[in-house]
Amino acid sequence: MSSNPAELRARAAVLDAADPLAAYTAHFVPGDDLVAYLDGNSLGRPVASVPAALDAFVRTEWAGRLIRGWDELWLTRPRELGDRIGAACLGAASGQTVVADSTTVLIFKLLRAAIADQQAADARSTGTARDELVVLADEFPTDRYIVERLAVDHGLTVRWVDAPLDAGITPELAAAVVGPRTIAALFSGVAYRSAWWADMAEVTRVVRAKNARVVWDCSHAVGSVPLEFDAWGVDYAVGCSYKYLNGGPGAPAWAYVAERHHASLRNPIPGWLGAAAPFSMTEGYSPAAGVGSLVSGTPPILNMVALTEMVSLIEAAGMAAIREKSVALTSYAIELVDALIPAATVSTPRDTARRGSHLTIDHPNSAVAVQRLWAQGVIPDFRHPSGVRIGLSPLSTSFAEVERGIRALADALS
Ligand SMILES: *Cc1c(COP(=O)(O)O)cnc(C)c1O
Repeated sequence: MSSNPAELRARAAVLDAADPLAAYTAHFVPGDDLVAYLDGNSLGRPVASVPAALDAFVRTEWAGRLIRGWDELWLTRPRELGDRIGAACLGAASGQTVVADSTTVLIFKLLRAAIADQQAADARSTGTARDELVVLADEFPTDRYIVERLAVDHGLTVRWVDAPLDAGITPELAAAVVGPRTIAALFSGVAYRSAWWADMAEVTRVVRAKNARVVWDCSHAVGSVPLEFDAWGVDYAVGCSYKYLNGGPGAPAWAYVAERHHASLRNPIPGWLGAAAPFSMTEGYSPAAGVGSLVSGTPPILNMVALTEMVSLIEAAGMAAIREKSVALTSYAIELVDALIPAATVSTPRDTARRGSHLTIDHPNSAVAVQRLWAQGVIPDFRHPSGVRIGLSPLSTSFAEVERGIRALADALS
């Protein structure tokens, strides 16, 4: 293929014309000054049906049903929406996914639950007690902070793991660091910086073979790569819903707990709306069955409205087609970077099988360039120390937009 800029530019039109998902780009609210949105991995754009859906929610559900809404509609919604996300995006049979708190809070709950469960199992056995948590040294901050807090509070050791800048966890690395002392490992399905898509099936197998548990943070994976939690034997997973699930700022995250862990699942923040009979006001906490017990206090129902609209779009398009477009978008973006920004280093896997839906390029002028681009309506993001991150949300992004954005980026970096 040609790396001639004019031919690369002309190819955007050809790619858009051949794109079976092209019509979906019109299903998003346009931005006032938007030239190219290259940050769909940080905050997805609003689906065009969201204003009407919010209006309908306020009139029909909130004003229309008032307090009756809890019994009639809302108490079951965290699990119903969880099931839809599970079916459309996670490869999860129903009853294992719930929409609840922020990603951060859910990571804490799941990891704390995993520790409690493993320690209870250790207490029943005669072997040595497990006392290690495994996490990558350059994992997303919130994940590291939780691991450090839980280690201090429960007298555990953190096993920090180094991975190359342009990669992430591999089965080989997992086999080298997970052992008989490991309680749990917390890994990213798609790494937030490099976009490394881990071989999640194999890493899960390696961790479970050591009788440890794996918690997958799928914040950058959900809605961008197809996931198969049930088939892969995943223990626990959590993910963001304002990135590729376009739920809007502050949209609640989802958590998945494999059914085999439900009987012993213990929410470290027990609350009345995760109890078996929320309105019975009884003494003593008796958890709801299964993943519903992960709910603590009142779930953010209003914040699920925009998310639901995007889940409907994903159900209609299908994750297989979304993945195919994602691969085409990131491959085209890498071609453009190679041709137009030869001084940049692509710090993202070139192997499509290991790449999520964003790319990070490193260049010494990144910070200044991104600032300048934002003022022009070209919106990638900057990642310390020298990365420009380009997130290509498959349903809202056209090939022409990628070409416009990276051409502007090339100008700004030079
Ligand atoms: C975006 C992201 C989060 C976000 O956590 P919040 O609690 O929603 O702020 C967590 N982990 C990873 C890996 C992320 O990319």
